[in-house]
Amino acid sequence: HGERTSQHDNLLGRTRAVLPSWLAIYYDEPIEIERGEGRYVWTDDGTRYLDFFGGILTTMTAHALPEVTKAVADQAGKIIHSSTLYLNRPMVELAEQIAAVSAIPDAKVFLTTSGTEANDAALLLASSLRRSNQILALRNSYHGRSFSTIAITGNRSWSPTSLSPFQTYYVHGGQRYRSPFAGLSDGEFIAACVADLRDVLDQSGGDVAALIAEPIQGVGGFTHGPDGLLGALAEVLREHGILIIADEVQTGWGRTGEHFWGWQAHGFTPDIVTFAKGVGNGLSMGGVIARAEVMDSLGANSISTFGGSPLTSAGALANLRYLLDHDLQANAARHGPVLIEGLRALGSPIVGDVRGKGLMIGVELVRPGTGTPGDPAPELAAAVLEATKRRGLLVGKGGLHGNVLRIAPPMTLTADEATEGLTALIAAIREVDGGLAAGAPTTDEEITA
Ligand code: PMP
Repeated sequence: HGERTSQHDNLLGRTRAVLPSWLAIYYDEPIEIERGEGRYVWTDDGTRYLDFFGGILTTMTAHALPEVTKAVADQAGKIIHSSTLYLNRPMVELAEQIAAVSAIPDAKVFLTTSGTEANDAALLLASSLRRSNQILALRNSYHGRSFSTIAITGNRSWSPTSLSPFQTYYVHGGQRYRSPFAGLSDGEFIAACVADLRDVLDQSGGDVAALIAEPIQGVGGFTHGPDGLLGALAEVLREHGILIIADEVQTGWGRTGEHFWGWQAHGFTPDIVTFAKGVGNGLSMGGVIARAEVMDSLGANSISTFGGSPLTSAGALANLRYLLDHDLQANAARHGPVLIEGLRALGSPIVGDVRGKGLMIGVELVRPGTGTPGDPAPELAAAVLEATKRRGLLVGKGGLHGNVLRIAPPMTLTADEATEGLTALIAAIREVDGGLAAGAPTTDEEITA
């Protein structure tokens, strides 16, 4: 064990020495994940963790899903190559499958290697089609870390620079708990956001290329407005011919349970959709979906060297087929509400808000007794993160203030695993809130999912 520990410490030291200081790493004592299976991962010292974050939602179906492993191995045995210049069967089959489930009429698909690259391409499409570098984004948004996507990211804690290739305007609607429109009914909230959008458009002169929006904000702390909000904004935007980009990097593929795409809760159809993360089940895969007329408007002769490579396309296709064949959207709809209700029923004084849909759940931690919204408590979120780790559970953290726990297990989650994770999470929150929780179950057996 001593040798293991020193090897582990050595890896942390080497990480700090050779990788940028600004790359975030979880936990006071970071863990090295060596292996995964189903909803579990194992670290280098053999400790097992139930994975309720799936590498920021990249593990969409399961760790080591045999279908994906086989597809990748078979393809690797044939050729590992770049994506384009020659006909590429896995890329075409994946694009056909994505177009078929896209719910976008006359859809075409451009494959990339990440969400950042997908959003870059979407911004390029919209700004060149509309001949404008003006972009509308939601406050508290996150769209990537390239120069152009940082420029449209509203969550400034992720932006090292204010320099920007875009003129960006931020509008309300991405969150409710800390919104100036908090406390309003759904209808009033939507009306307030529409009025805000009209005001911003007046100030911009209306020469805007596109609105980009996450149906549920991921990095922002799994925040969202009411259903129908984006559709109401879209109605105004259509008056000006402004395009709408739905960033489905975290919300796509049925994760929200009730719909296959996050935008479908809003009563409109976006012009452009971007995706990444879960589609590859851990492989680097992302992309853009748009109507042919929008996609083909670019007068380019271009490639993405690696986007849609045979290896990652074969793996993503197997992953997507598994997800569809096993109706994992229904599984997300089955277990998500139980987790949400279990966390709400806890009544902890440090839990200010529990929100989300399906298997995408945010728990906002606040200082007890500080009202609504409570003061953000990043130190309590950090303490709960450590306490969940001690109980063999991995969850994520996020939000502008770093005070939101993010829960997004692989979508093959079982009822037993949901119970196991909820039990560990509740115990961790109770440990940190000092047992002040009112109405909390007294034994683990009472907590079922
Ligand atoms: N959009 C959203 C909504 C995201 O959550 C992320 C990643 N957190 C990105 C874009 C960027 O994706 P990537 O990290 O793959 O570049």
